[in-house]
Amino acid sequence: MQERIDRIRDEIAQAAASCGRDVREITLMAVSKTHPWDAVMDGYAAGLRLFGENRVQEVEAKFPPFEERPDGMQVRLIGHLQSNKVKKIVPLVDGIDSLDSLKLAHLISDCSMRNGTRMPVLLEYNTSAEDAKSGFESEHDLFDMLDHIEELPGIVVRGLMTVGPLGGDERTIRNAFSLLRTVRDRCKARYPSLDFSTLSMGMSGDFAWAIREGSTLVRIGTRLFGARDYTT
Ligand SMILES: *Cc1c(COP(=O)(O)O)cnc(C)c1O
Repeated sequence: MQERIDRIRDEIAQAAASCGRDVREITLMAVSKTHPWDAVMDGYAAGLRLFGENRVQEVEAKFPPFEERPDGMQVRLIGHLQSNKVKKIVPLVDGIDSLDSLKLAHLISDCSMRNGTRMPVLLEYNTSAEDAKSGFESEHDLFDMLDHIEELPGIVVRGLMTVGPLGGDERTIRNAFSLLRTVRDRCKARYPSLDFSTLSMGMSGDFAWAIREGSTLVRIGTRLFGARDYTT
């Protein structure tokens, strides 16, 4: 585990150096989906702190309650969230990185307020126009949600997230990441009082390109934990 982490960190540093970026701008999220709690703890022991999970039931089954988690461990939801699971997930995670509709934003905000917290969120954007993917489908829909932000005191916007095209050549993949950066810049200009500092993009196969396109958060599963039995 330590070797794999060191290697990923090296590659992140190289990608950052290759485009003149400061490596400290880039956070490594370990995507532990389908891997057991023991794997999470191996990663934690080797220095990983931020974990990503894509299913509500899995977070519930795998992670102990907040007060029993190791110091500094954070877990965020990165997979599509169904309305009927909002109540369950809000008390279990440090953030929701896959917010993709105004309706969901209302539900998360209301639930967080009732719990006496505010939930950090990333807005997921579909940069590859693949129907199977979640995420806001257009800038219009994204802005429509952000236009309602005053009604959503229980969420705190931190930035945007995308899943790049699965497959495709370097140009296609980088175009998707570059689109997210452009959308982020337009959000910043339009909503200057909101925080869009996080740009979550890049996975095991494409994180170096994502960093060159401005990623500040890479989500790495396979390269840290090995292959998964099933993919989601
Ligand atoms: C599974 C998953 C990842 C990690 O994918 P790898 O290719 O295994 O690194 C990243 N982001 C999301 C949203 C995922 O579902």
